[in-house]
Amino acid sequence: MTEPATTDRALEEDTVTDQPYGPATAVIVVDMQVDFGDPSGSLYVQGGEDVVAPVNALTDEVVRAGGKAYFTQDWHPAQTPHFVTQGGTWPPHGVAGTPGAELLAGLVVNGPVVQKGVDGRDGYSGFSVRDPRTGATEATVLGDWLHRDGAERVIVVGLAGDYCVVETALDAADLGFQVEMPLALTRFVRVAEGDDVQAVERARAAGVRVEGALA
Ligand SMILES: [Zn+2]
Repeated sequence: MTEPATTDRALEEDTVTDQPYGPATAVIVVDMQVDFGDPSGSLYVQGGEDVVAPVNALTDEVVRAGGKAYFTQDWHPAQTPHFVTQGGTWPPHGVAGTPGAELLAGLVVNGPVVQKGVDGRDGYSGFSVRDPRTGATEATVLGDWLHRDGAERVIVVGLAGDYCVVETALDAADLGFQVEMPLALTRFVRVAEGDDVQAVERARAAGVRVEGALA
């Protein structure tokens, strides 16, 4: 770890730690679905089920404070270039209408759900979808919802930390929100060694306040 990164983080923690939740606080709960968060899932993220209880506690606390929770859900067609079966990267997962695409049974869904991947688009962020053939991206409704609801502080949690969570956090930072990514409330799929470290570095470089340490 480099000296400047340590110093920056220490400074930032001094100034914003323990800021109470309020009406301008939003939590984005990313892809807490059976395929990612249950050991039976087709793209299981190790330890994903452990995140359910702390995520429930966070959204409950934020909603009680007048803030809002939003949920994303991968919702793919059975055939999509997003899947390895059609030349993509991933084993089939989050196929619309299948048990694997359901949000985890223990998850308290106390806010609206935005589905992504609909119509064969892909991309990882809750804020945008991407046409896999042309690469063109298009915004989902999530950014509009956050602006409409007066969000300023955005806490991004869920699965997986090195894909959909970090991309959602990066987009939120790009949209000008004050973004936090608590590592205790995510798990990493680590397709390649070091993906988790790289995701955290990208987030920090974009101004996201990453809390806690990698397991
Ligand atoms: Zn997907």
